[in-house]
Amino acid sequence: MVAQVIDGKAFAAKVRAQVADQVGKLKEENGITPGLAVVLVGEDPASQVYVRSKGKQTVEVGMNSYEHKLDAETTEEDLLALIAKLNNDPDVHGILVQLPLPKHLNEDLVINSIDPAKDVDGFHISNVGLLGTGQKSMVPCTPLGCLMMLRDYHGSLSGMDAVVIGRSNIVGKPMAQLLLGDSCTVTIAHSRTKDLPDVVRRADIVVAAVGRPEMVPGDWIKEGATVIDVGINRIERDGKNKLVGDVDYASAAERAGAITPVPGGVGPMTIACLLANTLTACCRANGLTEPEGLTA
Ligand code: NDP
Repeated sequence: MVAQVIDGKAFAAKVRAQVADQVGKLKEENGITPGLAVVLVGEDPASQVYVRSKGKQTVEVGMNSYEHKLDAETTEEDLLALIAKLNNDPDVHGILVQLPLPKHLNEDLVINSIDPAKDVDGFHISNVGLLGTGQKSMVPCTPLGCLMMLRDYHGSLSGMDAVVIGRSNIVGKPMAQLLLGDSCTVTIAHSRTKDLPDVVRRADIVVAAVGRPEMVPGDWIKEGATVIDVGINRIERDGKNKLVGDVDYASAAERAGAITPVPGGVGPMTIACLLANTLTACCRANGLTEPEGLTA
């Protein structure tokens, strides 16, 4: 079997077009422009790249982008004061604090100071609780992107066996909640899981979110399974820098029914879902109907 490639780049372009279309309607019919505020503390190079990319795509879909760049020594008090200001700003519908934060800042405290209704990353404890209890919430962007691709490919996920490898708060756990919400039978695997190959071999859906280059070989994949590779790992091969996922793509593609590549799979969907979440937050804040298909 040669797997169908799930093209996250093309899917993300479709999501962005849908968001742009809705943003245009919001402006025309309601005179509202959704706004996303991104807060970056310090000069982490990878974070700077992400923040630039988020700002650019926000503007491209017709939303307002507000970037707040603070220096690495910013105090917790000053950061919390900025978040309080953004919470009260009616032009700001989404707030994202780029992680990781410098060590002297308490990440949980900062994230939980964001108004949950504006928490477009879905990391606020209220949103975590709402998702866990199957209520309307802001859903973390990366797992939401994975869910959208799975729904698009399969239609219904009901009754499927899903294995999520990784139990982080930003990917693994919310991914498992979303799959459970779509009536999959879900196993969450992690570094202490016994006989991981055997666990993965039972799955109709494998979501790998580990952060270990090409850790999942093709012979762990059940014939015809759908593989979603969240991992982004920079490696050097043949003297060149390369991005690879947590799945060994070449061997997994020979057994899977469908697979996301790295790059060009989950990655592009993450920012597209951030824009979708900002639109959703804006609609909710204004008591308007949420666009279909852009949230869980
Ligand atoms: P974390 O480091 O927070 O979590 C990794 C998880 O993998 C942990 O739960 C850990 O288990 C588990 N793990 C580690 N080693 C093994 C092993 N040998 N066998 C089974 N499980 C193992 O990572 P994140 O969730 O933040 O990210 C995971 C990957 O996804 C990274 O490559 C990251 O770059 C990528 N990522 C990609 C995004 C995108 O937009 N495409 C967005 C976010 C992340 P334990 O809990 O027991 O330690």
